[in-house]
Amino acid sequence: MITVNRHYADLKDSYLFYNIAQKTGAYLDAHPGTHLYRMGIGDVSLPLCSAVIQALHAAVDDQGDKLRFHGYMPECGAPFLREAIAGYYAEKHVVLSPDEIFVSSGASDELGDILDLFDPKSTALVMEPAYPAYVDANVIAGRNIVHLPAGEENGFLPEPDENIQADLLYICSPNNPTGAVFSREKLQAWIDFANKHGSIILFDAAYEAFIEDPALPHSIFELEGARTCAIEICSLSKTAGFTGTRLGYTVIPKELVRQGMHLNAMWVRNRTTKTNGVSYIIQKGGAAVFTPQGQKQIRENIQIYKSNAKVLMGALDKLNLWYCGGKNAPYIWMRCPGGMTSWEFFDVLLQKIQVVGTPGAGFGTCGEGYFRLSTFGDPADTKEAARRLTELLKNHA
Ligand code: PLP
Repeated sequence: MITVNRHYADLKDSYLFYNIAQKTGAYLDAHPGTHLYRMGIGDVSLPLCSAVIQALHAAVDDQGDKLRFHGYMPECGAPFLREAIAGYYAEKHVVLSPDEIFVSSGASDELGDILDLFDPKSTALVMEPAYPAYVDANVIAGRNIVHLPAGEENGFLPEPDENIQADLLYICSPNNPTGAVFSREKLQAWIDFANKHGSIILFDAAYEAFIEDPALPHSIFELEGARTCAIEICSLSKTAGFTGTRLGYTVIPKELVRQGMHLNAMWVRNRTTKTNGVSYIIQKGGAAVFTPQGQKQIRENIQIYKSNAKVLMGALDKLNLWYCGGKNAPYIWMRCPGGMTSWEFFDVLLQKIQVVGTPGAGFGTCGEGYFRLSTFGDPADTKEAARRLTELLKNHA
């Protein structure tokens, strides 16, 4: 009889979003018609920009025309999109060859699939609190996981130390859920560590477009030594509202070699075996993001989320509550007031002011006592949520 992958039994149930849905559902049953101020969402709320919509329409028309029709696309991505992404990196002074860029259907897919490149016996290091997919993808592969806790003392940006033994190092910057961003110096320390120990960094740059401080790195490849130790995984989900349209990209430099094997070539082999490429239509829509008009329009949308961040940070500043994130990331990570646990705080906000956020405990044990506020919500709702938060907590602070 077939033996299934028993590691699935080792996965811990994630009750986070299920519990949130249960609790908000129960509240709405008891208080029908109540409007909830949703500050927990990890999805975007603004539609695709017009440059993308026009490109998608034109690509749909191409598919109906005998001369312009496209069948299977190249598995690793259409040259026009790989070149457009290389141009985007060049603006950050990162020189990439288009064949170091792999077009994907999104960062989630890649974060799971990329593990095909590594021995299941290797060890993965996850800095916590963390985006839950990192842990789960490695549990499914049966990989040993080292949890590296982060906290207020290091600004939720842990530093390497020589006692760490890990092969795969996950770094998410700007971070979900904490919104913390690695400085060049702090990121360099991890690059030096990885090169010294032969580890590989999986750099999740899904929120790079939210960085506004010019001193902070958008890409790990802005730093010296990254080409011999890092893979960067990025997505247009939050950058350009592609959560439901699906498009991302992964950078694997040609110099990334372990045991004499070139990871770029291995990934070409993987993609040509396991995918038939991303749809022509979606890749055309994605390429429009990298045009001057597309860049202008997506930045306008990001500014709307950033205005939400300012409103929420303003409320927390007034209340004198500790938080990080918000400035260079779409998430704000706040300490729960009065020593409340994150679920206690969730309940207070829901019951007293109808604001829904995300309890930090859902992102790993060191997220307990913290709470994530998202800036992807509706601006009017965000203002009202901030007003209610200020009113509720003014005596707590
Ligand atoms: N990485 C991080 C840190 C995320 O927060 C998310 C989505 O919320 C993703 C990756 C997944 O992005 P995608 O929509 O491209 O799958």
